[in-house]
Amino acid sequence: MARKAKRISIDTKLCKGCHICIAVCPHGVLKVSETVDNRGFFLPVVADIDACKVCGLCEMECPDFAIVVVSSDE
Ligand code: SF4
Ligand code: SF4
Repeated sequence: MARKAKRISIDTKLCKGCHICIAVCPHGVLKVSETVDNRGFFLPVVADIDACKVCGLCEMECPDFAIVVVSSDE
């Protein structure tokens, strides 16, 4: 059975809105927020958690260890 994500957490203190996670996600799970945060960053938000295959690419490529994907089987 294909893996599914139970939760995708983005640490809003660590994230600096570089959007690498959005660029590397092969399944369009993440998108840019339409609102700016209090530091002036457009952070990523989860657009479609059901499309996540828990491949881990976003976690591996995030330079700030700001995104964590929790599998539904964890
Ligand atoms: S784990 Fe993979 S599919 Fe899920 S959001 Fe990250 S890059 Fe996209
Ligand atoms: S790659 Fe990391 S720091 Fe960059 S936008 Fe995504 S979660 Fe934030």
